[in-house]
Amino acid sequence: MDICGKRMYDLLQKLNFERLSTFEGEKKAAEILTEEIRKIGLEPTIETFKAPRYTIKTAKLEVTEPFYKEYEVSGYGFSGNDAADGIEAEFVYLEELEPMDLQDVKGKIVFIANGLRPKDFKTLLDAGVRGAISSSGMFYDTEETADLDQRMLRPMHIEHGKLPCVCMRMKDALEMIASKPQKVKLTLSQEEGEADSQNVMTEISGTEYPDEVIVYTAHYDSVIFSHGMYDNATGTATILELLRYYKANPPKRTLRFIWCGSEERGLLGSKFYVREHEEDLKKIRLCINVDMIGPLLGRDIALVTGEEALCNYITYLYKELGHPMNVLQEICSSDSIPFADKGIPCVNFLRKGAKNTYQIHCRHDVIDILSAEAMERTVRFIAAFSDRVIGAKFFPIEKTMPEIMVDKVNKYLRKTTN
Ligand SMILES: [Zn+2]
Repeated sequence: MDICGKRMYDLLQKLNFERLSTFEGEKKAAEILTEEIRKIGLEPTIETFKAPRYTIKTAKLEVTEPFYKEYEVSGYGFSGNDAADGIEAEFVYLEELEPMDLQDVKGKIVFIANGLRPKDFKTLLDAGVRGAISSSGMFYDTEETADLDQRMLRPMHIEHGKLPCVCMRMKDALEMIASKPQKVKLTLSQEEGEADSQNVMTEISGTEYPDEVIVYTAHYDSVIFSHGMYDNATGTATILELLRYYKANPPKRTLRFIWCGSEERGLLGSKFYVREHEEDLKKIRLCINVDMIGPLLGRDIALVTGEEALCNYITYLYKELGHPMNVLQEICSSDSIPFADKGIPCVNFLRKGAKNTYQIHCRHDVIDILSAEAMERTVRFIAAFSDRVIGAKFFPIEKTMPEIMVDKVNKYLRKTTN
């Protein structure tokens, strides 16, 4: 039994559809994974949790003065229903969100290029704006080549209040702002609620040290319009391949595999896992997370959220094995974060695609740039690293989290503001 890139590629083909949190695609992917786990001869467990889900009823943007024109927009999920009956107000293009930019925006509808960060959102609320418009994509995008973003506000956006927000194509935004609109009307109504998402899990008990657990994580959900082949059907296939490998080569330590749902909604599956398995966390010695491997052109990277010694361990290993890669002591915006937050050392493996070869979080995250061979190479390295720690006489990685990593995780999770 060996690692096989072709087999991983076959799984990508099975998962080649949109797998949006709480929707049918995510559920279908969870079912495919449970089937695969059974085929390997193990019993899958599904843990269901609630994730936010919204339905936009109306989203409309009209220029009303000095001429009339309607633009196609998408409504931000969880931005409320204040504009359900339509809000007509003066229009302002905001270059920046400095105090000087904001001195005359009270009661107006503003446009901001790019997205709305949580802190921008609070700034706009404090300034008393009535609605906000942001832009989607590049100026040269057309309906044929790109989708209009569908965005959702997170709890950290709306902790200070809500504001109706919509998103329009950059091409339209350029045209609209050049035409100097004085008044616009924004209409937005939606249903805000939640629905089921799920983690898929399984375990192989250790033959010698069953109480020492190594957990493998990878998210299997994608964002809207995206088949999420690179992000993250590849990680999904990676840990399934490692499951096969360790079923055939029984490990000395216990291995737990978690395919996380709703990562793209804010790491909801992994956050749910650590919340629900508080007692088990004591046994977990290491989390190995895989988020995006497989581009033919690219570079393997290990992001170590843990002590520097672990970086050195991996550095010596890649040199020993002749597998060039970059190793950094860093956090990774993925499912390892909730584990790191509980003091569990984490290694995030990824293969960063070469510039201009890939796009994620849109319809262009497709299978074409991915290579079975590249996946196989990376997963062989992950297996080699895993073999050493799983089979070690004495577990080599200390369960410590350096202050610098604690600070980064806290900042990421917004526990600290600085
Ligand atoms: Zn991802």
